[in-house]
Amino acid sequence: MALVKMVNEVEQFLARKHGHYIDGHAVSGKGRERIEVKNPASRAVVGSVAVATDDDVEAAITSSDRAFREDWCRVSPAERERILLRFADLIETHGEEIAQIETAQSGKLIGLSRLIEVGWSARWLRYYAGWATKISGETLTPSYPSMNGERYTSFTLREPLGVVFGIIPWNFPVMIPVWKFGAALATGNTVLIKSSEYTPLALLRIAELGTEAGLPPGTFNIINGPGQIGGKIISDPRIAKVSFTGSVPTGRIIGQEAVDANLTRFTLELGGKNAAAFLPDTPVEKILDGVVEAGFLHSGQICASAERFFVHRSQFDEVVGKLKIRLESFAPSDPMDEAGMIGPVCNEAQFRKCLDAFDVAKAEGDEIVTGGGAYQHEGFYVKPTIILPKTLQSSAYRKEIFGPVGAFVPFDDEEELIEMMNDTPFGLTASIWTNDLAKALRYVPRIEAGTVWVNMHTFVDPAVPFGGAKGSGVGREYGSSFIEAYTEPKAVTIRF
Ligand code: NAD
Repeated sequence: MALVKMVNEVEQFLARKHGHYIDGHAVSGKGRERIEVKNPASRAVVGSVAVATDDDVEAAITSSDRAFREDWCRVSPAERERILLRFADLIETHGEEIAQIETAQSGKLIGLSRLIEVGWSARWLRYYAGWATKISGETLTPSYPSMNGERYTSFTLREPLGVVFGIIPWNFPVMIPVWKFGAALATGNTVLIKSSEYTPLALLRIAELGTEAGLPPGTFNIINGPGQIGGKIISDPRIAKVSFTGSVPTGRIIGQEAVDANLTRFTLELGGKNAAAFLPDTPVEKILDGVVEAGFLHSGQICASAERFFVHRSQFDEVVGKLKIRLESFAPSDPMDEAGMIGPVCNEAQFRKCLDAFDVAKAEGDEIVTGGGAYQHEGFYVKPTIILPKTLQSSAYRKEIFGPVGAFVPFDDEEELIEMMNDTPFGLTASIWTNDLAKALRYVPRIEAGTVWVNMHTFVDPAVPFGGAKGSGVGREYGSSFIEAYTEPKAVTIRF
């Protein structure tokens, strides 16, 4: 065990009376109501934030709107790139501090906080920074009538939308905001973010680094509070776009609120019930590694994780038996242990959600091969769980649990397999594992998901667009697709 000692800067940061981040400053907010942030490994309160009042919300939107109209639009693309690159450098320079704040607020293993919340955040931000100078329109030759020899030329501009409102879940409370503010700022928008009420702290430190990097006041604001605050902000006519990542039910509400506001643009990155399918040419050891990669990283609290696993009947019993042994070898760890294997789930609601799902599975007659409960350990530690659903209607097979759990189903026939993979209203990700690449490439177009991996799962990259098919979302983030989502084309035609 290699327990990391909390650095002084983190202790000092957590002890501060946090509120929001508005107009280039940390502000305590006008209200008295506060939300406590608890470390899920110990249930100890590690900090708190103020709940935004209507006055705080108004101050934040006014600031974002003013910064869009008066400041950020005057900053050249090259300067935007330079500021965002400096911002990424600062995230890395203060990486240990950010990683430790994140681990304290969410229970994420310190290694994952360093890798993803710090390392990947900086990577994504640099990716977006590079785009700031490469956004272009088209030149077109239209065919308008020419009575007296007039001629025409047209071109398109890709213009920023205005104030982008980002709403963030608790599972990656630094990296997911970067997807949104990196995209928004690179394309010339300003951004207002509402963090999850469970994990609001680390992003407040990130915002300070943005100001230090040179972001003008108001370009990057944060407001804290429960979900209802989000609804108020969406309905404000100064909000030009909503970029939401979170659950399907909340996404549906937000999409409707955005349409009702003023056909406000929106991107929805939602959940699902992702499938990972192992064709029988995959060796058993590789299947075991694949299942852990697909379903059990960060205790399954990754939107891209698989929760439905399909294994050929000829390998099924061996895979389930060996996986049981492997998962039972995982030990619950202090999240500050650098060698930690499994941390707590992020909050009590998620803990209860997992345990309730296990109770439902038992009541519906599913077989729980291992896990199915909590570790005898302080904090919200859920055992990695293998479920064999009684039928394909079992809740454990159909509903997202968002924990360290997989529903395992055997298949005999690959046509039946593709049908089972697609038999869900969702379509965020899927993976197919085989060395027969010709076969994989024939199956890929038939799999209904925004991302299909072959021989891998869960990993994302800023160059590759990400988002959901079917009920898992609307729009794509990163890749080059984000440009369409964060700009509006304007057509200009000249007669001469
Ligand atoms: P959630 O939907 O409960 O909350 C997400 C955010 O929405 C929070 O900030 C919350 O305060 C806010 N919110 C809640 N109700 C609101 C309302 N009526 N109006 C405006 N805002 C509201 O999700 P969660 O539990 O924080 O996150 C887990 C979910 O997120 C899972 O379903 C997971 O699959 C999904 N997720 C998806 C992606 C993706 O990229 N597709 C990534 C991570 C997580």
